[in-house]
Order: sequence, then structure tokens, then C-alpha cells
Amino acid sequence: MERMVEIEKFEGESSYELSLRPSSWDEYIGQEKIKKNLKVFIEASRKRGEALDHILFFGPPGLGKTTLANIIASEMDTNIKTTAAPMIEKSGDLAALLTNIEEGDILFIDEIHRMSPAIEEILYPAMEDFRLDIIIGSGPAAQTVKIDLPRFTLIGATTRAGMLSNPLRERFGMHFRMQFYSPAELGKIVEQAAHKLDKPARGDAAHEIARRSRGTPRIALRLLRRVRDFAEVANETEINLTRTQYALDELGVNDIGFDEQDIRLLELLVSAKGKPMGLSTIGAALSEDEGTIEDVLEPYLIANGYIERTARGRIATEKTYTLFRLTPPHINQGGLFGEN
Ligand code: ADP
Repeated sequence: MERMVEIEKFEGESSYELSLRPSSWDEYIGQEKIKKNLKVFIEASRKRGEALDHILFFGPPGLGKTTLANIIASEMDTNIKTTAAPMIEKSGDLAALLTNIEEGDILFIDEIHRMSPAIEEILYPAMEDFRLDIIIGSGPAAQTVKIDLPRFTLIGATTRAGMLSNPLRERFGMHFRMQFYSPAELGKIVEQAAHKLDKPARGDAAHEIARRSRGTPRIALRLLRRVRDFAEVANETEINLTRTQYALDELGVNDIGFDEQDIRLLELLVSAKGKPMGLSTIGAALSEDEGTIEDVLEPYLIANGYIERTARGRIATEKTYTLFRLTPPHINQGGLFGEN
């Protein structure tokens, strides 16, 4: 079965998402602190007539990092070039990107933690001194060619701040950690998108989708898309609560927005009866990539207090035992409930 609350983008979803992507601050709901700060920095650099400092966004996928980069470009009235680190394989790829940008432009690099060390080396002087040092040839005949670059802004996005090398992280003047969205914020996002799709959603229906979306706009929009299909087939002009609940139940989206993989992870941890479980054991048991567990599955469960990460592994919290109607075990070896 298709995972409805999967956060990575599905094939063919990009154009749907693109059509719903907010293009201004007004449409960008939530992340108030980030918005407030960015507005100040944008105004200041516009006043000085300078390019914005390099910016790093980090947080789980689907929370609006790419969208923010695009809004910044539009606020700064500049061009934005978008790429992802795995697409920059050779130094020539990066050089081609950097020599094609204009003064004040934005270069957006997604998944920046996946940049190869060799490419990072070229990026450092480009970020710091707006200079490209390219080595041509090899051995004793090798030559370094220096190219001056226009002042540009690099916006990096990563799901894993911890995997970024220190020198790279330090070269970003601004760091922003994305937060999961509250149901109220997600409800607004759903209503706004439904309106754009010409299929208005009633407040309670939008809230129902929001509640089951793992705090993530990308998931909320995906669920909305499916609910809209159900409403369309039923010839309904708007999205109501009954149809929404029916559709979401049909799609197997649980009441709290957990999907099967979340439930399997929580069940696994509960079955350990309070003994911490290592990432590799979890990965093997769920047949899931460790990176996906760390980047996609865990953050939401940790942020909502269902899992704790300890030095010796992951454990289910009291909240999880209660969710499964089980009595939490008394744990003393790991220093669990309340001690750590
Ligand atoms: P990320 O780059 O973090 O993976 P995106 O910026 O691609 O996430 O966001 C996924 C989709 O969710 C976007 O296409 C956009 O339509 C929607 N979205 C994200 N954040 C917001 C927000 N704050 N307000 C409204 N819509 C949002």
C-alpha cells in the first residue's frame, strides 16, 4: 500500500505541490520566528543594497524549506537557481552553476549534507570570498585558475544538521531550525490550498486533515488531494467532515496521523519493555533504511514525546505505552522516565 503519510515526494506530485506553493509571506503560514527574523534581514540587506548572507535551513522533509528559499528570492527580487547536492558530482558542475549566477542571485542547494568533500572545498572560497579556485590538469603541470564571482546568497537545506561538516556549517551566516506545524496552522494551510484548488474545505474538515498530517504541510496537502478525489466522485462541491473522515479511514491514516511504519516502530520499542534499542536493530526489524528512520520517522515521534533518544538507543516513552493501553515498565538501567 502507498504510504499516505510518507514525507518524501512522490512521482508526479511536484506539479501539484508547485501549484499550491505559497509565493508570499502572507500565504506562508506558521514558522513565525523564522519569518520575523528573515523579514528583518531581508529589509536590512535591501537597504544596504547588498546580497543576503548565506542561509541554512534544517529540519525534516516537507516542512517548507524550499518554499522559504523561493519566497526569499521573490522578496529580494532576485533569481533563484535550485539544485540538490547529489546532482553536483564534479567540480565542473559547481563551477558551471556559480559562473552562471548574477550579482545578488540565490543558489539553493537541497540535501546539502550530501555534498562530497571535494566539492565542499570549492564551495568554501566561493561562499567566503566569492572566488572560485579551479585546478586544471594534474601533477606538476596542474594550475589553479581563480575566477571572481558576483556576490550571491547560498541557501542550503538539510534534514540532518548533524551530518554537515563544521567548516561548511560555519560559513552560513544564518541558521534556522524548522518546526513541526500545529494543527491550527496546518488547518489554515489546507483551507488555503483547497481554496486554490477550487474545492473549498469546511473548517472542521480542514482541521481533521491537519490533525492527521504529522505536523507536515507536504502530508496535509497530499491527504487533501486524496480527500478531494473522494469529494469529487461523490459530486460534492465542498470538502466536508464526514467525507474527510471516511476518506482518511479508507486510506488507512490513523487518528493521530501515524502511519503503519510509525506504529511498527512504536510497537517494536514497546516490545523491548524499556530496554534501549539501537538504530541498526530497528532498521533491520522494520526493513527500513537507517537514514529514513532518523530523518523522517523519528523527528515527529520525538517532538511529540513518543520516543526518547538515549546514549544507548531508542526507547518508547510512557505516552507510547499509554497509547497502546499498556502499563509502562519500571526502568532503572537506562535512567528512563524522569531521571534523564
Ligand atoms: P521542504 O523543502 O522542507 O521539503 P517544501 O518547501 O517543498 O518542503 O514544502 C512542501 C509543500 O508544502 C510546498 O509545496 C508548499 O505548498 C507546502 N508548504 C510548506 N510550508 C508551507 C507553509 N508554511 N505554508 C503553506 N504551505 C506550505
